[in-house]
Order: sequence, then C-alpha cells, then structure tokens
Amino acid sequence: ELSKRLAAVVRHIPRDSVVADIGTDHAYLPVYLIQTGRAKKVLAGEVTAGPYRAAQETVRSCQLEQQIDVRMGNGLGVLQPGEADVAVLAGMGGKSIISILEAGSVVLKSIRRLIIQPMRDVPAVRRWLIRNNWCLVDEDMVDEDGHYYVIIVAEKGNEKIDDEFILEVGPRLLEKQDDILVEYLKKRSANIGSVLQKLKDAKSDEARLRAGLLIKEKDRIREVLKLCQ
Ligand code: SAM
Repeated sequence: ELSKRLAAVVRHIPRDSVVADIGTDHAYLPVYLIQTGRAKKVLAGEVTAGPYRAAQETVRSCQLEQQIDVRMGNGLGVLQPGEADVAVLAGMGGKSIISILEAGSVVLKSIRRLIIQPMRDVPAVRRWLIRNNWCLVDEDMVDEDGHYYVIIVAEKGNEKIDDEFILEVGPRLLEKQDDILVEYLKKRSANIGSVLQKLKDAKSDEARLRAGLLIKEKDRIREVLKLCQ
C-alpha cells in the first residue's frame, strides 16, 4: 500500500496522463499508477545507481516494462520535450527540486502540471514557481509518522504573491483553511511558545533578534488561526 504522502500526490494526477516520476527510488509510485489505471504510461527517472536498479527490479517483477520506462539520469534530463504531460518531484529537498527545475527549462515547456512534494524549503519552491510563471493551482498537507508533508500542484500561469508569510504557509492551504494546516500551525505556535520561554532571560543580541522574529511569527499564526475558526 502507498504511503499517505504518495497517496496525496496521486490524487492530483489527472487520469490517463503520461507521468514522469523524477527521483523514483523503488518505483512504487509508477507501479501504483499503472496498476490502478490512473496513468497510461510512466517514465521513471533516477540519478543514483542503487535506487535505479531497485526501480528496474520492481518494474520487472510486476511485469510492467511496457508501461513503465525506468531511465537513469539527472532530473528532467531523462525526458525528451513532449514525452510527459505531468511531472512528479517528490521526497527530495526543495533546493534539489529547484535545481532540477532550473536545469529542465526546455522539457518544462511541454509539462502541463507539476506535482511537487518537497521535504524541506517549501517556501523557496513556491517562490521559484511563482517567479518562473507557474501558478499554484492546489496545495495539500498530510501528516504521517509525526511529520507534516506539503504537496504543491502547479500549472502555467501568472500569480503574484508578495507576502512572505503567505509563501511560508501556502496560499491554497490558507484559502481552504486546511484542517491539517490548522493542526500544524497550532503545534508550531505552541513550539514557539516554549522556545520563547527559554529565550525569556537571554541577553545576547542574537537571542533577542530570534525572540523578536518568533513573536512576530506567533502573532501571524494567531491571526491566521482566528480567520480559520
Ligand atoms: N519519489 C519517491 C518518494 O517520494 O517516495 C522517492 C524519494 S527518495 C527519498 C529521493 C530519490 O530521488 C532518491 O532515490 C535519489 O537518488 C533521487 N534523486 C535525487 N536527486 C535526483 C536528481 N537530480 N535526479 C533524479 N533523481 C534524483
């Protein structure tokens, strides 16, 4: 069975798409997409030899070589322009995802939808997308094993977001008043509260600066939570 995190990615894949799964690891997502009939073909890219072999082995043991093409290479470089409609970049750090997108501009021209699930640096990914003429059509958040994961769905278009806090939290999650987002923000706020308690008597400039920023963040979270009630 697929993880909650990957199941959330799947929900954003339009039926009958040709999907590129970049950083496929064991190719669990491609196998699921074909076995459930969600995608008609998957191009699975992997840059590291071990996971590449694991992906090939999974596909072979499921006898899905016709529908899943496992390719070794860096990022979107495994694709020819026009080969895939949808690209999934999941389970990698935001900075790696941004470098993959930067390097893949020719291939990106023919990708209609990106489904991105960054493990870190989520705001940086949102910022990159918006600055590079993608708009955030949807966002999701799931919690699994004590972690909160964000899924960003982007399509071509223009969107303007200047507010850093909105980039941090996620514009579509905010609009939806997403339950998991609310839970996450409550936890984050409690966490900030306990850090502030520890910083209370600190005298260094650095500690005061940090406390100031945390107080601001806590205030913004309170505002958002008020709107979500
Ligand atoms: N996408 C799967 C998921 O979300 O469960 C697997 C995530 S796994 C943690 C990340 C995989 O991405 C690793 O197998 C790694 O080798 C691969 N990877 C990292 N950078 C890559 C790149 N530039 N191009 C292709 N694969 C990459």
